[in-house]
Amino acid sequence: KPIQFATSEKVIEDVEAGNTADIAPENAIRYEQYVKDGGYELYKRVVEKEHHHEDILSAKDDSGLRGLGGAGFPVGRKWRIVKEQPAPRLMAVNIDEGEPGTFKDRYYLERDPHRFFEGMLIASEVVGTAAIYIYLRDEYAGLRELLEQELAVIKDKLPDVPPIYLRRGAGAYICGEESAMIESIEGKRGMPRLRPPYLAEVGLFGRPTLEHNMESLYWVREIVEKGADWFTSHGKNGRQGLRSFSVSGRVKNPGVYLAPAGITLRELVNEYCGGMQDGQELYGYFPGGASGGILPERMADIPLDFDTLNEHGAFIGSAAVIVLSDKDSARDAAINAMNFFRHESCGQCTPCRVGTEKAVKLMQQEEWDTELMGELSTVMMDASICGLGQAAPNPMNSVINYFPNETSSKTKKVPESGGVSK
Ligand code: SF4
Repeated sequence: KPIQFATSEKVIEDVEAGNTADIAPENAIRYEQYVKDGGYELYKRVVEKEHHHEDILSAKDDSGLRGLGGAGFPVGRKWRIVKEQPAPRLMAVNIDEGEPGTFKDRYYLERDPHRFFEGMLIASEVVGTAAIYIYLRDEYAGLRELLEQELAVIKDKLPDVPPIYLRRGAGAYICGEESAMIESIEGKRGMPRLRPPYLAEVGLFGRPTLEHNMESLYWVREIVEKGADWFTSHGKNGRQGLRSFSVSGRVKNPGVYLAPAGITLRELVNEYCGGMQDGQELYGYFPGGASGGILPERMADIPLDFDTLNEHGAFIGSAAVIVLSDKDSARDAAINAMNFFRHESCGQCTPCRVGTEKAVKLMQQEEWDTELMGELSTVMMDASICGLGQAAPNPMNSVINYFPNETSSKTKKVPESGGVSK
């Protein structure tokens, strides 16, 4: 059975059983319970200026927290940039979570939605935004119901919060790109904007906009209450902080794991996921969803973080780790990914619209024309408007660079290092 890009085992089961409307667990922490456990105390102190805004900003700076949607822009710096823009400023929260293999946002929200809401409200208060727009993936139907219910409670119990709008996405991967999401919220076709100007200056409805992935806000309360030191005290291999990994593929226990920043793939698989499934040996992995490239088993000991992976033509993005085994083909996985990008391209610019189409055709040939693919890849990476077209060639290039025995369908696929011991 070929490996599939999945959200989570539970999601697949639910979808197969037609339970998409009932995914939200009954045991989510609701408003009363959250408040009983000290929830919204920090928010109230921030509103009443008992907790100075500058302290909150410093905590963000000192923690080194970076945007967890994929781009990794420092959170504190983003808040400061938007705060300096003229009012009215707006806020947009990205919960489109469309990167294949990513399911962490949903995992956290289904369990503890108010931790996110509180972080969102604190960010809004510190930056001074006049309204908040939450953009939620439409496939998360059960989650939408949960968020709608809890937002109604917030508006009732905390009447002074700014207007909060929950908007439904409509299944387009490209609407997870920040500027396409803004277009979509505005009611237009979700197509990325040319930048500059950046959203911090000209964003939603032409106003300066604080745009964040849900998880970047989820950690706000934790970091302020426990201190930046608490956050930075975690980490491995010289890195600091925590990261949420969505792990799927050939591991025993797929799921969301909060692990020290800088952890390696091998450590993640063996220490968190129960090792590889029986009879499967590690062959390679997508470190950051479909767009983050594919790395071979022999590179399973490098830290999974923003900077290290870039040096190897890959990136961690939203930390969607998809593990391949000796029963999988990196070439098939790369074709699958390119097909996905071809389908999801918004078609606005030629290098991406035509490039993904052409790349699929080239990749389906028995013998890969790696020189031509290299040229195509350069054009796509250099001339595409947004990250979709720029990153689309990553899996193809990974096969050329790290799995050369797979560039010909005639060549027998053999893992270069003979797999990993469990
Ligand atoms: Fe659209 Fe692709 Fe161009 Fe992005 S790179 S704007 S998805 S055509």
